[in-house]
Amino acid sequence: MDSGRVSSPYGPFPAPPKPLITQVKLPYPLPPETMPQSAHSQSKTRTVLVVEDEQALALGIEDALNVAGFQASVVHDGKLALESVRANAPDLIVLDLMLPSMNGIDILRNLRADGVRSRVLILTAMAGEDDLIRGLEAGADDYMKKPFSPRELVARVEAQFRRVNMDSSPAEILELPGDIRVDLARLEVHRDGQVIPLTPREADILAYLIQHSDRVVTRDDLLLDVWHYKSANIETRTVDIHIVGLRRKVEPDATQPTLIQTVRGKGYRWHDA
Ligand code: CA
Repeated sequence: MDSGRVSSPYGPFPAPPKPLITQVKLPYPLPPETMPQSAHSQSKTRTVLVVEDEQALALGIEDALNVAGFQASVVHDGKLALESVRANAPDLIVLDLMLPSMNGIDILRNLRADGVRSRVLILTAMAGEDDLIRGLEAGADDYMKKPFSPRELVARVEAQFRRVNMDSSPAEILELPGDIRVDLARLEVHRDGQVIPLTPREADILAYLIQHSDRVVTRDDLLLDVWHYKSANIETRTVDIHIVGLRRKVEPDATQPTLIQTVRGKGYRWHDA
């Protein structure tokens, strides 16, 4: 699983050529307040806001989540959802797209524009293919098509809280070409004098690609290891849309990506110098 990167300062290896990517190691271990939120800290309450105007469905989801150990609450209206997220900063939002007063896509765009990093799982009607894609492009981490069972939903929510195993993680700070700096721990991209928030999912994809930069990473790899799907035998456009979004944040020129390279017919590969 390790990328095989030569990292020993005293190893018997010849000095590598000057790398394109400079990775700055932080002091280790990091103080707790700089660590990304851990999915394994069982003591912390995991809060979920359910935004769904079908009341019976909303209550069913809320119950199932609470039984599974989450702290779930429900709102039935779009504008109230926005207010609730801003006031309570839930860890995850289950977001229906068709809602009174403001639709889910607009809610999501507003929240991501504000830098809200809550994980977002959108709920779409079977026929809503366009909505699904717009939702992912607006910053949703995952989606479920109605109808679904509460158990399926709980499993998907659980998966969202699992982070990539960071045991052989890349450095937390990446210095990329074009004066772009990525802080994986703080979930931030610094470029052109701006700070662009990364979602936990985007940070995980980036870390995974870098960890496996010695090979091509397939969409199935990402769905199994980053999204934690049990089977990757499903739509892969979730992956592709996330890659497009990630390139916009970390590539000097997202129209001509050089860091996250597409390997035609296979997947993606992190360009490692
Ligand atoms: Ca609805």
